[in-house]
Amino acid sequence: MKFPLILSLLSCAMLGSVSAQEFDPADLETARELRASALAGNGGFDVVEDLTTRVGPRLAGSPADARAVAWAEAMLLEAGFDRVWLEPATFPTWSRGHERVAVVSPVEQDFQALAIGYSPATPAGGIEAEVVMLDDLAALEAVEPEVVAGRIVFIRNRMERARDGSGYGPAVQARARGALVAADKGAAAVLIRSIGTSTNRFAHTGGMRFDTAQRRLPAAAISNPDADQLERLMGLGEPVVIHMDIDAQINEAYTSHNVIGQIDGAVLPEEIVALGAHLDSWDVGTGALDDGAGVGIVTEAARQIMALDERPDRSIQVILFAAEEIGLWGGRAWAQARAEEIGRYQVAAESDFGAGRIYAMAAKVQDSARGVIEAMAAELAPLGIELTDRRQAVGGPDFIPAAPLGLAAIDLYQDGTTYFDYHHTENDTLDKIDPEDMAQNAAAYAVLAWLSAQSPVSFGSGPALLERDED
Ligand SMILES: [Zn+2]
Repeated sequence: MKFPLILSLLSCAMLGSVSAQEFDPADLETARELRASALAGNGGFDVVEDLTTRVGPRLAGSPADARAVAWAEAMLLEAGFDRVWLEPATFPTWSRGHERVAVVSPVEQDFQALAIGYSPATPAGGIEAEVVMLDDLAALEAVEPEVVAGRIVFIRNRMERARDGSGYGPAVQARARGALVAADKGAAAVLIRSIGTSTNRFAHTGGMRFDTAQRRLPAAAISNPDADQLERLMGLGEPVVIHMDIDAQINEAYTSHNVIGQIDGAVLPEEIVALGAHLDSWDVGTGALDDGAGVGIVTEAARQIMALDERPDRSIQVILFAAEEIGLWGGRAWAQARAEEIGRYQVAAESDFGAGRIYAMAAKVQDSARGVIEAMAAELAPLGIELTDRRQAVGGPDFIPAAPLGLAAIDLYQDGTTYFDYHHTENDTLDKIDPEDMAQNAAAYAVLAWLSAQSPVSFGSGPALLERDED
């Protein structure tokens, strides 16, 4: 939309009418130019290269976290955003000392292991106990306490590989809650099969739920080949004894920051298109796929828009969230601060699934915006992106805490076939990123952001969108 008066008439008075569903043809032409220039560009690869080289791994609350925040602020200013600012997010921190997991009977073997985030330390000298193997979290919830009391619980559920990453949700329950449920039953410690699809001999770390009211046990993930080995050892029918030694520290409160850059809208500056990614990573690898790639993709999408001769009608923000990995703390702080103004958010979309190509999209918008979403999808189709029938979307993990406010959201689904080979491991490094795939992502986010900013209709963030969910 080019003309403020017409835009405000359309926004206020003509919602739902046929003409209000249509983009200004000039805006569609600009979307095509953005798509082409982003595809020809480097996709923000330089951004993730710089982040992973200068800052490296950046566990929330660590000294590298503070360096990442300073890096992000400088990077967004350099990129040319009109305004860049920080918003606080406070959370309990966790730091890894060391972990050692070894079979001591009936054979002796060290396993490749990583402690799980928020795991407490074992008592000095470690824990030595017989292993009880369970299929999954549900089996742990159902087991009689005397079966696991004093023992090391091994949860063996295996994540299945899938393009959409759908194997992650069911399997990750063991990591998120195993150490809490097992604590209630009097177990000594928890081991899980890595939540990941790698067959390499390294472990996948990750977080567990933090709840000050609930006791947690020391917990570690072992590599998939080691989990296979442990299953075979259990199959011998003799008691299997494991020694687990974890050193880790939990500190009460640290304040990090969400880093936000804004392109001021020319017509409706108070309305915001929010592009997200998270700045923190695990302490292993360099957080290139998770989520340096997302930081590069959304920054590059915004850079493409800033390079236009014209400004977007609505404001566009890039939000680099703090402390996603250990509990969505940045996302929670962001949502809390927006409880009264969620209606300002035209749409939210976060890139946090590595650097694979985008193949599909889903939108959660009010029904009267569906036509606009279909027109947007037509401009994404040349990138190989298909609009699905799904009317649900959360925008990404850091926007989940804002979902109960009725945040309108678009999900762009990336190919995650190999993502979980690297996820939360020492092997999440820059060489796993294909710059051409990142450029396809940046092109999609540029089109999404631009057309959301130019939309003749509101996408409808607010309680009405929640009511639609209940239908
Ligand atoms: Zn992530």
